[in-house]
Amino acid sequence: MSRIEMKTPLVEMDGDEMTRILWKMIKDELLLPFIDLKTEYYDLGLPYREKTKDLVTVDAANATMKYGVAVKCATITPNAQRVEEYNLTEMWKSPNGTIRAILDGTVFRAPIPVAGIEPKVSCWKKPITIARHAYGDVYKNTEMAIPGPGKVELVYTAEDGTETRALVHEYKSAGVAQGMHNINESISSFARSCFEYALDTKQDLWFSTKDTISKIYDHTFKDIFAEIFEAEYKEKFAEAGIEYFYTLIDDAVARVVRSEGGFIWACKNYDGDVMSDMISSAYGSLAMMTSVLVSPKGYYEYEAAHGTVQRHYYKYLKGEETSTNSVATIFAWTGALRKRGELDNIPELMAFADKLEKATLDTIASGKMTKDLALISTLENVTPLNSLEFIQAIRAELEKVL
Ligand code: NAP
Ligand code: MG
Repeated sequence: MSRIEMKTPLVEMDGDEMTRILWKMIKDELLLPFIDLKTEYYDLGLPYREKTKDLVTVDAANATMKYGVAVKCATITPNAQRVEEYNLTEMWKSPNGTIRAILDGTVFRAPIPVAGIEPKVSCWKKPITIARHAYGDVYKNTEMAIPGPGKVELVYTAEDGTETRALVHEYKSAGVAQGMHNINESISSFARSCFEYALDTKQDLWFSTKDTISKIYDHTFKDIFAEIFEAEYKEKFAEAGIEYFYTLIDDAVARVVRSEGGFIWACKNYDGDVMSDMISSAYGSLAMMTSVLVSPKGYYEYEAAHGTVQRHYYKYLKGEETSTNSVATIFAWTGALRKRGELDNIPELMAFADKLEKATLDTIASGKMTKDLALISTLENVTPLNSLEFIQAIRAELEKVL
């Protein structure tokens, strides 16, 4: 059988620990036998980030802007313990943070539905995608403990030195205060990423904030979304037969739980942090979530939503058997290959991505799955497999459909 040809390389970002082991298995068993895989390889594993003083991460992000589509393995975000473990000269920043700062995007996360893994909310028939703004708010805040009576003010000093003040609170006793910010440019690119992704995936877009209480801060988010929608997307949405819908965050939560799914829910940074964990747990597992960073300039970076699965890696290093779920990493590859096929007009590549996803889900539906799924599956006959056996079972299924 001849392998599928590619035109433009994918930007391939390798990673760390157990997911690095899965990465190689996936390439060897599920991709290289069938595709004449073209990639530009960047090793984002922590040892090589250390060796290049983290420049490899910047190079990988720049390559993504050059080629347009990247696929990324999970990577370690160093903390004090990792600095010791890997003998690092510096506590390198989160690669995802570095890449996001360069590509300027929004992260979309959606559960991967499969027979035998039932959502805990019984009316959810289709996946709900969370679009999380990844800049500012409480994640870039400034906080202060207020020791006793006195006043706290917000002071804006313009470039010409003029000051505008607003009273936060007159303290009669001790308390706390917090200042946070956002930037219209970042909110606008968040909005455009969401509108583009809704068009791309032909799903309705919901957006929610607390603008009734936060009449300037949250209201600005609402206004920017509305202005961009009116000016740039209203007609395109109508043509695609999809809707843009704004509502208050508390109303959105109630509607989401009563809905049947199948839409994108855009959330401010904190709301997105909280709600994506609620959605993923309600659907079963982090290992059954796709995750893609979409930049407003049209770059795409596909990854798994989970981390490097450190605990399994340490077992692997001791020669013990592991049963690590590779579905999210496989779907990162299929997402990237499908997008590459779409941009380069290679229908066979897009069809391959569809078939590999189908083979993966059919394998699970036939009862063959990793332990994490075996524990929650509603199927009657379940065979738990180890990491490699699961990937080989998918290959057998894939060979049937190709
Ligand atoms: P993790 O990799 O998400 O794993 C936490 C636990 O969740 C695992 O121990 C495992 O539970 C379960 N799990 C997650 N993915 C699984 C999979 N594919 N198959 C089966 N079980 C899975 O988080 P972590 O181990 O706490 O973090 C490890 C490293 O990942 C950290 O250094 C962190 O910086 C990094 N991280 C990277 C990213 C990213 O690159 N996108 C995201 C998050 C974290 P059991 O042990 O109970 O089986
Ligand atoms: Mg979180």
